[in-house]
Amino acid sequence: MLTIDVEQDWDSTSKKTENLQFLPAIFEMLEETNSTATLFVVSDLARELKAIGVPKNLEIASHSVSHQSLAKLTPKQRKYELVESKKVLEKVFKREVLGFRAPKFMSYDGMWQDLWDTGYFYSSSLVSGVFPGRYFHFFKGPFFRDQILELPLQHLKGIPVSFGLPFYRIFYPLSKVMVPKNPRIFYFHPTEFLEAPPVEGGMLISKLYSARRGKKAQKLFKEIFTKFGPTSSIQDYLKANLRKSGLVK
Ligand SMILES: [Zn+2]
Repeated sequence: MLTIDVEQDWDSTSKKTENLQFLPAIFEMLEETNSTATLFVVSDLARELKAIGVPKNLEIASHSVSHQSLAKLTPKQRKYELVESKKVLEKVFKREVLGFRAPKFMSYDGMWQDLWDTGYFYSSSLVSGVFPGRYFHFFKGPFFRDQILELPLQHLKGIPVSFGLPFYRIFYPLSKVMVPKNPRIFYFHPTEFLEAPPVEGGMLISKLYSARRGKKAQKLFKEIFTKFGPTSSIQDYLKANLRKSGLVK
């Protein structure tokens, strides 16, 4: 499965949306290979994304209203991020929004209950692995929590960080042999395709995070897509496999 987090530039630390320029080429690539993908969209960008033109077979899911860390918000603000993003995305794209991904993979206790109350079906907000902080989760496969199907990201083989372009870039070329087994969910942000970060990061992690951005990130994404594609959206995958998986009867 392929998931694309559509948000403002630089992990939403900027209000700019220059990274959306990369989407048409990505959509073209998906179309050419008969692939689908799930777009986790920050609903503040819904109209701008709609204007770019999203192919009908791509899934629209929620990545909150404003990409703030939900854990830092009040219960009322959290609820707003869940409810309003679903409402806006459904109105703009005229299709049902079933999935949610917490901004920065930072969930909070009770999030799954709130998702269920809001009418979501699944979430992809956790990472199986043992990296401290936001990645501190031990779960392996998909599981139900408060009636919501949680599909955690897998981690790179032998190392407790998520299988997605950010860490794939950092550990390249070693990451080529660290790809987890299927079913796997790959994620990336078009903002990784932007060339240079706006500020020089002081912390090691922010320096690492800026490794192989821009054209190199595009090349790595193409490489991994060619090797493991064609891809499917989460929704398409669930439709085809949910019964087989034994997760639902
Ligand atoms: Zn995000």
